[in-house]
Amino acid sequence: MSELIAFIGIGNMGLPMAENLMKSGKKIRVFDASKSTIEIAQKKNLDVVENLSDLVTTDVTTVITMLPEGKHSKEVFLGESGIINKVSKDCLLIDCSTIDIQTSKEIGKKATENGIKMIDAPVSGGVMGAQKATLNIMVGGTKEAFDLALPLLKIMGKNIFHAGELGSGNGAKICNNMSLGITMIAASESLMLAKRLNIDIKKVHEIMKNASGNSWPISVYPPLPDLIKGTPSNNNYRPGFSAGMMNKDLKLAYECAKSVSADTPLGKMALEIYEKFCKDGNDDKDFSAISKVIGGDAWDYPIE
Ligand code: NAD
Repeated sequence: MSELIAFIGIGNMGLPMAENLMKSGKKIRVFDASKSTIEIAQKKNLDVVENLSDLVTTDVTTVITMLPEGKHSKEVFLGESGIINKVSKDCLLIDCSTIDIQTSKEIGKKATENGIKMIDAPVSGGVMGAQKATLNIMVGGTKEAFDLALPLLKIMGKNIFHAGELGSGNGAKICNNMSLGITMIAASESLMLAKRLNIDIKKVHEIMKNASGNSWPISVYPPLPDLIKGTPSNNNYRPGFSAGMMNKDLKLAYECAKSVSADTPLGKMALEIYEKFCKDGNDDKDFSAISKVIGGDAWDYPIE
């Protein structure tokens, strides 16, 4: 059977990932629930279908999903017109969404019962990583399924890790993003303090990039404009990775920690800060816009 990829969820991350697969010569069809997103994909010359049942047919060899939350993955895989009952047994399922471990395992269990291979494969590296195909991809699933998925994952990412059994990809990703949420707040606090101490922010940023206070938010994705080109902070905090998504991931981390009686006070505090930020109507801003709250009146740049 010739290779055919069905890709579902072509938002901020899914679109560049699907484009990289197309550009590598793979036969790929895409679908998204949002009409405006479908129009963007059409302009990028992707083969778009307008409903899920046209997308997932028995000749599909791989399904890749890049959806916001567990409830979306569950609906797409297990719902009324769910994928699990539509694909052939030879089809490989790759869920790249960041979702809760339980949902990931539940979908995987159902797939296994139907004789279908599945991995969870959440990613990190942001939209820039998706565009440049330099994503870090964290895989949960059997070694056999991992090996099968590897050639496709290598087209979308640079570092591909086999974290363990199904659900471990999301477990690893949740741990990673708890750190990311905390370090974005930490970077914002440090730069705000520098500003209040009247030290040139650009100099402090350069120093931190080369010193022990470095972190991904400092070296790649600073929360303030004019430090590194191409970041959401230079684009009025258009995501990128939305504050709503970070709030979701910090909630996932909090729930995971509770489930194994792990004490994560900074993760909890980061969740409270992002929760309030989202409640105040900022879910759709990039998560680096948290710097505005941290900085208060230290900043003179706008967040619209
Ligand atoms: P997004 O909101 O931009 O894209 C998600 C897309 O899924 C949307 O276009 C939406 O219309 C579509 N969708 C939702 N329900 C659907 C359904 N039932 N059927 C078809 N399409 C549906 O989100 P994103 O930023 O691309 O993130 C996607 C996932 O990747 C999330 O789990 C997020 O946590 C994770 N992630 C995002 C980033 C980032 O920087 N944006 C980085 C790493 C991981």
